[in-house]
Amino acid sequence: MIGLSPETTPTRRGEIMTDGVITKKGVSPGKTLTIMAGVHGDEICGPEAFKELIPTLDIKRGTVHFIVANLEALTLGERQVDMNLNRAFRPNKLLTAKERGTYERKRALELMPYLRESEALLDVHSSMTKKSKPFIICEPHSFPIAKRLRFGIRSHGWDVIEAGGTDYFMNTMGKIGICIECGNHNDPKAPKLARESIIRFLTIMGAIDGRLPRECKSQKVMHAFGIYKTETNFRKAREFEDFEPLPKGTPIGYDGKKKVLAPENMLIIFPRNQDLPGKEAFILGRYE
Ligand SMILES: [Zn+2]
Repeated sequence: MIGLSPETTPTRRGEIMTDGVITKKGVSPGKTLTIMAGVHGDEICGPEAFKELIPTLDIKRGTVHFIVANLEALTLGERQVDMNLNRAFRPNKLLTAKERGTYERKRALELMPYLRESEALLDVHSSMTKKSKPFIICEPHSFPIAKRLRFGIRSHGWDVIEAGGTDYFMNTMGKIGICIECGNHNDPKAPKLARESIIRFLTIMGAIDGRLPRECKSQKVMHAFGIYKTETNFRKAREFEDFEPLPKGTPIGYDGKKKVLAPENMLIIFPRNQDLPGKEAFILGRYE
């Protein structure tokens, strides 16, 4: 668990860690915020950033919940135990009976109260794609904050195609929900980017002191406009980079025996082989 034990543990200066949650309070009033890491258990850049940052961070204003989300998956070193935790933050009626019985759904229900009391969320992720570009996932109401994080791309449209994430849950309440993808899981730059982004986010939100980070003028905007789900299973035709541009008609892979081609000029994101029907094989995007 990378030094973050799931048990209730008293930490420095009276901060309490309960079941993966450390709450730090400033002496002055301010916003309530949540920083989340380890929603997927194989994405260790967030928990690594927490380990270094949390003991040193001096929260001046408001309340910040630091949450290590998928404790069991992190212990296993796997993406998930029973289901994708980032699809479990949905109303009950949008989940199957099987999904409602999973560890991840139970964990999502435990974590929802922290999100309900927070004004804004930063959720730290990384990608299994080897050549992955760091990018931001958020909807346009969070763009003013996303612009000040040091990423080359901010993307939107994900709530429609992949409902049930932590940022989706915040968006349904009209709050700020920002997910950062910090690059490949094993890229040593990923935890550094995670740390820097957490500091920028807390500065922008007024929780810590510091100069307001500048807007990244070169940041591109990408619309995630579609998702390919398997009919039977999926095998990639080759390795792809995240955000690789594919001209219309490019072979992407096979769904069973059926060839899957790019339906139009598109960018491909998160391509992955899948063994079962109804699974997410890749995301389709375009720059705006
Ligand atoms: Zn993730």
